[in-house]
Amino acid sequence: MPLDTAASAELFERARAVTPGGVNSPVRAFNAVGGTPRFIRSAAGAWLTDHDGNEYVDLICSWGPMLLGHAHPEVLAAVQAAVARGTSYGTPTEPEVELAEEIVARTSVERVRFVSSGTEATMSAIRLARGFTGRDVVVKFAGCYHGHVDALLASAGSGLATFAVPGTPGVPASSTELTLVLPYNDRAAVEKVFAEHGDRIACLITEAAPGNMGVVPPEPGFNAFLAETCARHGALFVSDEVMTGFRASRQGQWGLDGAVEGWRPDLVTFGKVMGGGFPAAAFGGRADVMGHLAPEGPVYQAGTLSGNPIATTAGLATLRLATDEVYDHVGRAAEVVKTAAAEALAAAGVPHTVQSTGTMFSVFLTEGPVRDFEDASRTSAAGYAAFFHAMLERHVYLPPSAYETWFLSSAHDDRAVSTVLDALPHAARAAAAA
Ligand code: PMP
Repeated sequence: MPLDTAASAELFERARAVTPGGVNSPVRAFNAVGGTPRFIRSAAGAWLTDHDGNEYVDLICSWGPMLLGHAHPEVLAAVQAAVARGTSYGTPTEPEVELAEEIVARTSVERVRFVSSGTEATMSAIRLARGFTGRDVVVKFAGCYHGHVDALLASAGSGLATFAVPGTPGVPASSTELTLVLPYNDRAAVEKVFAEHGDRIACLITEAAPGNMGVVPPEPGFNAFLAETCARHGALFVSDEVMTGFRASRQGQWGLDGAVEGWRPDLVTFGKVMGGGFPAAAFGGRADVMGHLAPEGPVYQAGTLSGNPIATTAGLATLRLATDEVYDHVGRAAEVVKTAAAEALAAAGVPHTVQSTGTMFSVFLTEGPVRDFEDASRTSAAGYAAFFHAMLERHVYLPPSAYETWFLSSAHDDRAVSTVLDALPHAARAAAAA
């Protein structure tokens, strides 16, 4: 018998009457997979509970932030104590200093500035890169998502090394005409645009390891090559770790490449895990570059709720609890799930490839390897929709889109993982039949 979703369906109808598409971020509407989006009433550990009382193992983890699982008692206690002291003062506070110190200690950045979303972080990093270098052109990769920043909602123009066109109505051509969009993992394309436009390029921005077209890891040495190419041309290398930061590893993606190979990005953006489930994000980097930011320098940037005491308290509590043991646990659980997913799909005869970086992974329903957005686009949307719904019926909540990372947490215990393992063969057969 299918799960009862009457309460979610009713809420969805009410939501659609007052909110475009019934949601406040498009992918939540299940547009890519069809069906009724589940309205979640509460969450604890690895589990979500919807308004009909159905429980699901959560493999989205709020799209990354919930590294410790939902409603972690120590995070809740820290937040409750902070709330009792008032919710926002618009002054500097101690938790901001402590969270900044923690981020500086764990990552490559020397100075950090807090904002409220990943979008704000990348938007501000680009403004700072332009202000610092006195140049205007920004290079990005197709399939890398950096939030809904006008200049970055850009699609490749016709042919390599031509300037981009708007990726959505509402973005003026003037906002993307200084953006160059290249295929990911393509060194020759990077060489070519730097050869042609090097003295105009303010920065190259990339996801430290793309997770927004599914997980497409940088080929060995690719990030080092990007950092070196930028340095050679006087451009800044901006590593977007909004998703990978404090998630792929203790030190993010940089812990897996830069820290090992001995290089640093000029600027880094963070979000998700560092906000502990609250709206907090950050950008940071070289002290001399960050010194160009107001009030120290001339590049303007500000925010009413930036560094909010509740959000920074939640982030600090989360990072302090995110020990090596946490990453070991999440990595092991991810390994079990991704291996079982690959086995189930192989047994059902479904073409697939599973790719990962650190504790993050995703499943493409196409033969691999997936090196860039063009490869990722070959994943079977119909196969994924069938797979997704078969998992959902068996109480596993996957991302409702084929191009997303699957996230686990330190709360994904044996019961949660075995619920996923039990569901996978059914879902693989559903994908095969789609
Ligand atoms: N950069 C990356 C790599 C992201 O994954 C995201 C969000 N998925 C963003 C930026 C934008 O963050 P936000 O949704 O908080 O604006």
